[in-house]
Amino acid sequence: MHNVKTSFEQINVQKRISHLALLSAFLLAFSASSYACEFKDVHFAANFDAGKLDACVQLADDEFSNKQYELLSKPENSPINPSPWYAFKVINQTPANTQELRLVLKSEGAKARYSPKMSIDGKHWQPMPFEIIDSNIHIKLTLGQEAIYIAAQEIVDNAFYAQWMNSIAENSPFSLSKLGSSTQGRNIDALVHSKPENNEWFLIIGRQHPPEITGALALISFVEQLSIEHDLNREFLARFNVMIVPNLNPDGVAHGNWRHNTLGSDLNRDWGKFTQIETQQVKYWLDLTLIEQQRLVFALDFHSTQQDVFYTMGSDYAVAPQDFSKDWLKRLKNATLSSFVVRPSPGTSPGRGVFKQFLADEYKIHSITYEMGDNTDRQLIRHVAQEAAKTLMQKMLDTEPESFIFTPLLVEPIVNDNPSK
Ligand SMILES: [Zn+2]
Repeated sequence: MHNVKTSFEQINVQKRISHLALLSAFLLAFSASSYACEFKDVHFAANFDAGKLDACVQLADDEFSNKQYELLSKPENSPINPSPWYAFKVINQTPANTQELRLVLKSEGAKARYSPKMSIDGKHWQPMPFEIIDSNIHIKLTLGQEAIYIAAQEIVDNAFYAQWMNSIAENSPFSLSKLGSSTQGRNIDALVHSKPENNEWFLIIGRQHPPEITGALALISFVEQLSIEHDLNREFLARFNVMIVPNLNPDGVAHGNWRHNTLGSDLNRDWGKFTQIETQQVKYWLDLTLIEQQRLVFALDFHSTQQDVFYTMGSDYAVAPQDFSKDWLKRLKNATLSSFVVRPSPGTSPGRGVFKQFLADEYKIHSITYEMGDNTDRQLIRHVAQEAAKTLMQKMLDTEPESFIFTPLLVEPIVNDNPSK
């Protein structure tokens, strides 16, 4: 999908060049809204979905006459959790000549978080050599005829979700449904499986934070495992309804945001407050769906952070069934013992607008923030997600419907009927 924001910026830049011819290229490169990443020999393009590059400047050639460029990514607003995203295409303007480039990737107000990856087609990615010097990423690149994509993580853009969700809907019992629209009018789509006679709902959401790709990859494999033809799946879907919203922040994804939606809001600090259109869509669906006997019983929210960790509600919190998350993660641990460390991290974050906390307080159920490490091996993410789906389906099936309903513990009065004894 064409990135509208960048094309506007490019038009702005062209206008400025024609109207303010005296402005030096240097000033343009650092002006807040300028793109200005087109040089005589090389063009750094970010005019695609999930593309992100805010300013470029050519530095003096080094002692080996390598061309050096400093490329800057800026956060959408601040304060912000520092997860600097970058994604751009390096295009050789003189394709007859192979060029040796040195790139310095800077992020405004933040240290580098993501190790750079490269791709020729924007779909297949590989890690690339780099150095961190003064919190910036330094890359040496040999640029031949072919353009090269460089990004913070693999690009999983809005077009990918559209295609992937269509393919799940075509090849499984899940159907595609439009939950609503984002602030800028992009579709927020859902995969749904429900039967009128069922009343227990499992909710999955993802991509509240655009750069958290390993969480997105985990959700993709988890959902694929849920949607396959298998006895366990048939049994699971015969009892439970499932609602999946894989990409809750499509505007943030399109703009290559570091964390927020297009209004500069952290969606995972908005639950319970519901000031943002994106979280409101899910709340609206919950209110419409959870009527009469319909109940939410469990939810997962996929993210990425420095390490693999499962943020849970503790067994002592007012949610049911008491030990559900602990027991499921024990099963996941046993299923992935040889390759993976399951780290449960029980805790609360009252009043902070976090999805799992909101669900615990509002519906008295467990939910988990499923976090994959930024650098976790991609095959392992897939394997763990598949085992997670299998063990969770089994755990949910092993749980009696009434056990999902929270009942406050009745403190029995101490009856001392024979004090003389
Ligand atoms: Zn996150």
